[in-house]
Amino acid sequence: MPTGFNGRWLRVNLSTEEVRVETVPEEVYRAYLGGRGICAYILFRELRPGVDPLGSENKLVFATSVVTGAPVPGVNRVSVAAKSPLTGTYGEAEAGGFFAVEMKFSGFDVIVFEGAARRPVYLWVKDGRAELRDASHLWGLTTKETAEAIRRELGEPLARVACIGSAGERLVRFANVIFDNRYAAGRGGLGAVMGSKKLKAVAIRGMRRPFEFHDPRRLAEIARWYAESWRRYPGAVSRSTYGTPELVTPLSRDGTLPTLNFRGGSFEGADAISGETLNRTILVSREGCFACPLRCKAVVKARPPYETDPAYGGPEYETIASFGSLCGVGDLNAIAYANQVCNAYGVDT
Ligand code: SF4
Repeated sequence: MPTGFNGRWLRVNLSTEEVRVETVPEEVYRAYLGGRGICAYILFRELRPGVDPLGSENKLVFATSVVTGAPVPGVNRVSVAAKSPLTGTYGEAEAGGFFAVEMKFSGFDVIVFEGAARRPVYLWVKDGRAELRDASHLWGLTTKETAEAIRRELGEPLARVACIGSAGERLVRFANVIFDNRYAAGRGGLGAVMGSKKLKAVAIRGMRRPFEFHDPRRLAEIARWYAESWRRYPGAVSRSTYGTPELVTPLSRDGTLPTLNFRGGSFEGADAISGETLNRTILVSREGCFACPLRCKAVVKARPPYETDPAYGGPEYETIASFGSLCGVGDLNAIAYANQVCNAYGVDT
């Protein structure tokens, strides 16, 4: 049994609807490790120069790594990559949450999408099997509606779902890929690449870990050390308490908070959109990624007239700065609502 990886990739040709399993030698993992390394390995080898990012020749890669699935914080992210329609060059983004672990536990380290489907489809992967399914009825739905509909029709309430909203469908060049309503592979317009391939979603369920780690006892020790010691580090405590919005107050104080379309670095409404205010006013709970005790991700419920659905999570620092200080908006409820709209339609913030 290999240690740290499955050694199996899925190659999905959307033009022919063929789904193939590839066996990949250990040398590839030793050289590229996984995640963005494997994404770059595949794209630089397989894409010819000048390929149209929104054409069927572009390829879209979802990749985990040799440490995905380890009970260690910060290593369980999924990389998504393609030639970017936003920059015209290599585009890669990552998402936290649970999708990466579920994907690797399903038996596949990497999924490569090629070609373009004639009708909307989604890929369903479970425990070593994969199939393309019709997604015509999902086209036009929000990300939450899509995830709910897929889980319902599969009878899999715990399936993890990565999908695009109408931004990706309409090839918006800053469309993202949304995982489970609220984790985003944001940069590079990779949602538009999914849309150009008529790939509405990828749904994953992995019920067991099909591989072993080389030294599981040492990994467990590291996880235990982290769980016992992170509270001794003020930075970790602050991140756990306020999430990335903790940055608003110090950046504004230091003059480096993007403000009023970059005309300034300090925002007079910074207190009103800070992590502290978020906690006091609209925070419902905190969530985390797989195996991370910090649970830094806010789940919020904003108040009318900007009422929000906690299923869409809450705004990170980048969203607060973009819709808040950059636009001169000092209302966290409005910012949370804008965050929800972007997550629902699959727009990068
Ligand atoms: S919960 Fe926060 S700190 Fe923990 S891995 Fe996820 S993003 Fe990082």
